[in-house]
Amino acid sequence: MIADQIRGHQLILEMLHRGLSRSRLPHALLFVGNAGIGKKRVARHLAQCLFCQQTPADQLVCCNECNSCKQMAAGTHPDLISVECPPDKAILPLSLIIGKDEQRGRKGVCYEMSLRPMLGDRRIAIIDDADKMNAESANALLKTLEEPAANYLMILIASELDAILPTIRSRCQSIRFGRLSDEDVAALLVQQQLAESEEQAIQVARLAEGSLSTASQLLDESLEELRVNITRQLSKKPFQPQVFAQSIMQAIDDIGGETATQRKTANWIIKFCVDFYHQAIQHAANYGSGSHSKQIEQFVAGFSDETADRIEKLGNLLDRLILTEEQINQNATIALCIESLSEDLRSIQMK
Ligand SMILES: [Zn+2]
Repeated sequence: MIADQIRGHQLILEMLHRGLSRSRLPHALLFVGNAGIGKKRVARHLAQCLFCQQTPADQLVCCNECNSCKQMAAGTHPDLISVECPPDKAILPLSLIIGKDEQRGRKGVCYEMSLRPMLGDRRIAIIDDADKMNAESANALLKTLEEPAANYLMILIASELDAILPTIRSRCQSIRFGRLSDEDVAALLVQQQLAESEEQAIQVARLAEGSLSTASQLLDESLEELRVNITRQLSKKPFQPQVFAQSIMQAIDDIGGETATQRKTANWIIKFCVDFYHQAIQHAANYGSGSHSKQIEQFVAGFSDETADRIEKLGNLLDRLILTEEQINQNATIALCIESLSEDLRSIQMK
C-alpha cells in the first residue's frame, strides 16, 4: 500500500513515525473514529512498514517491492492476522477470536498471536469492528493483551469508543481519527475510481460527512439517480409540489426494503434537498466555493427578490427541510411528511 493513498491523517502518521523511531510503539493500539475514514488503511500501512524487509523498522516507510510488501498487497502475508465483523452479523463472532467449538484455542486471533512469526520477526493482528465484540470475546482477547509477546502488535479498530470494555481500553493506546475533509473524500473517490468524474466526486463528497464509505453508498446507482432527479425537480420554476412528492414516493417504493430502509432513503432525500438549497444560499450570497452548477445558478437567478430576501427565503426552505428530517426520525408517516413538505416548499417560494 502506498502512503499517498492515505489522506487526512498526516498528524497520526507522524505520531506513529515518532513512536517507531523512539522504539516506543506500544504493543496494542486502538484506532477510534467514524466508519469509512481510513483507520484500517492506516493500520495496514503501519503493518506493511513494520513487515517491510527493505526499510528500517524504526521508520514509517515501506518499499512496495520486497516479498513482504508484495504479500501485504496481495492480502496473503502470513504474519498478519486480520479479522472483522461479517456484514450480516451484528456481533464479531467469538470463533474469530478463539476458534470454533471444536477448534477452541487452536484457531482465532489469540492462538495466531501465540505463534512464531513465519516471514519476518513479528506478528501483527488487526481487529476491525472491535466495538462489536461481546464480553466473552473481549475477555478472551484481554488475556492476549495482558501477556504481550515481544514484537507483537495488536491494532483494534472501532467507531464507538464507549462500546469497548474499559479493561481493553486501558491496555491500548487510543488514537482518535478525525473526519476527512470534503476535498480528501473527493480526491479518494477519483483516485480509487469510485466516481465517474471529478464533478460527481465533489458533489457526492459534500454529502458524505467526511466518510469514504458513506460516499461510496451515495454512488450507488439508484441513490445517484435519485439525487439527480431531486436536483432537477427542486430547480424547476415554478416548483411543482405534486410532481415532486409523487416522484419521491415512487423512488422510495422503487428502492424498496423494510420501513427502516425506506426511512433511510427518505433521510437521503432530505439531505439532497438540504444540499441543493445550501448551495443556492452560497451562490446567492456569493461566498463558498464559487463553482456551482448551472441548475443552481438558474434557480437562484429565478428569484425576483432582492439578495437579502432571496437568502431569507432560501433559509426558510432549509428550516422547513430540517423540520421534515426531525419528523421522519420521529417515525412520522413518510408519505404525509413529504406531501406537506412539498406544499410548504411551494408556498415559501411563492411568498
Ligand atoms: Zn518492502
